[in-house]
This record gives sequence, structure tokens and C-alpha cells, in this order.
Amino acid sequence: MTSTASPNSSPLTPHASLALANGWCQGARQVISPNFSPRPAGVAIDLVVIHNISLPPGEFGSDHVERLFTNTIDPHAAPGYADLATLRVSAHFFIRRDGELVQFVSTHESAAHAGRSRWAGRERCNDFSIGIELEGTDHMPFEAAQYETLLNLLQALAVAHPLRAIVGHNDIAPERKTDPGPFFDWSQVYAALPQLKPEISLWDKPAAL
Ligand SMILES: [Zn+2]
Repeated sequence: MTSTASPNSSPLTPHASLALANGWCQGARQVISPNFSPRPAGVAIDLVVIHNISLPPGEFGSDHVERLFTNTIDPHAAPGYADLATLRVSAHFFIRRDGELVQFVSTHESAAHAGRSRWAGRERCNDFSIGIELEGTDHMPFEAAQYETLLNLLQALAVAHPLRAIVGHNDIAPERKTDPGPFFDWSQVYAALPQLKPEISLWDKPAAL
């Protein structure tokens, strides 16, 4: 049957009912990363950290981020990749420009996304956080499809884990990191999940990081 678009029709929402099972998001494409470690016993997974990444920087659509997170990047594929090839990093999730969701690490495990970091008086944010990478840069807006997937993912994560806050990488490592950058629209995140907007008392930005 042919359907006709109406002014109120919304775009396809392939991830509208995302849910987690045993730390894995149903609806995400799984690309298993070896770069994870057990979380400390008894730790509450209560923080989400938003990042951006693109490889080569500022270019979209390659498989280089997936290669970086699975230790298979070609050191000769682009300038600077020789240094990347020695890294052992990952994130739990990667949201591509078209909204596709990729998962590399179970949320029950610690992914290597935050590095040296601190939030609300606690060091080592990898221990208690979930890392989400958006394909992008600090220098241009993200796509509507990425926000759609992100908000659906965040809702699913909030059901599965006792989240207390969603912050940027720049918030937990302010001396080292700038992502997700000035174009990331925090108002969309906090409008959808107002309970996860950090209270001012939680912000601590030590000068030494
Ligand atoms: Zn980052």
C-alpha cells in the first residue's frame, strides 16, 4: 500500500525501542573490542560521557574508528595513524552520522574512553561510566539522526543502570579534552532526560588534569 507523507509525519525511527540485555543493546551493530576491563566490584554505573571522534579527523564514513577500537588500524592509512596504531582504546558506543549505532563493549565492563579524569570527586571515570562517541568534530553540528539515536540510547541506558548524570569528556578532563565540543546540543539531552543534568555541586574541574 502506498502511503503519502503528511506535514506531521516523522522520519523513520529505527532505534525507537532500544533496550539493553546483559549489557548489550539490542538494535546496535556489535563490533567486539578487546579493549575493556572489569569494573571494580560493587561500583554503580552512574555516569554517561559524551565524546566526538572522526578518522581521519573531520572525515566521515570510513571504518577507521571501528579499526581503532579493535586494534586493526592501518598505521600507513593516513598521517598520524602510526601513533594511533599503538593505542588500546575503545568506547561502549559509536553513533555514526546516519544514526547507526555500533556497540564495542558491554556496559557491564569498563571501556577505555575517558583516560585520566575526575567527576564529582572520583578519579578514573572509566570505572563507573559509559562512553558514547558521536562521529563528528568540535567544528560542526551533529546530525539530527545522531541525536535521535543518542536520546533513544540514553533512555535505554537510564532503564538499565542507576545513572546520575550525563556529561562531556571535556567536563571530566578539562585540561586535556574539548569534546564533544561547542556544537553539541546539550539542551536536547537535558530536555529528554532532565533528571540527568548534573547539579552544580557535582562539578569539580581540578586544574591538574
Ligand atoms: Zn573524548
